[in-house]
Amino acid sequence: MSETIFGKIAAGEIPADIVYQDDEIVAFRDLSPQAPTHVLVIPRKPIRTLNDAAPEDAELLGKLFLAAAKVAAHEGIAEAGYRVVVNCNAAAGQTVFHLHLHVLGGRPLQWPPG
Ligand code: 5GP
Repeated sequence: MSETIFGKIAAGEIPADIVYQDDEIVAFRDLSPQAPTHVLVIPRKPIRTLNDAAPEDAELLGKLFLAAAKVAAHEGIAEAGYRVVVNCNAAAGQTVFHLHLHVLGGRPLQWPPG
């Protein structure tokens, strides 16, 4: 399985501004933030896209969302509101093929998105 830049961040091989981590999950600030808070939440397990998540990943997927909520609370955006986004494959703009949740907030977010 080819390792992506996020796999290297999870392994500590390249630096990132990490805001949360545990034995299964790492959360770090996006290099090119699209909002005042823009944090990526990834599993240490290298799942390429949401399409590649398997039934045995169900608990891990739940933990990713719980970690996203924890990050939002820690960033102080939970009450005002924030968005959690998963881009899946090219038409959605996925560029890094290691499953990740974008946690975006700190400004009003338009809906529907472009
Ligand atoms: P995607 O488009 O795949 O959903 O999101 C990938 C995100 O990863 C983009 O928002 C991009 O700015 C971010 N990104 C790409 N390379 C790096 C990196 O090396 N470090 C960090 N922290 N973020 C990255």
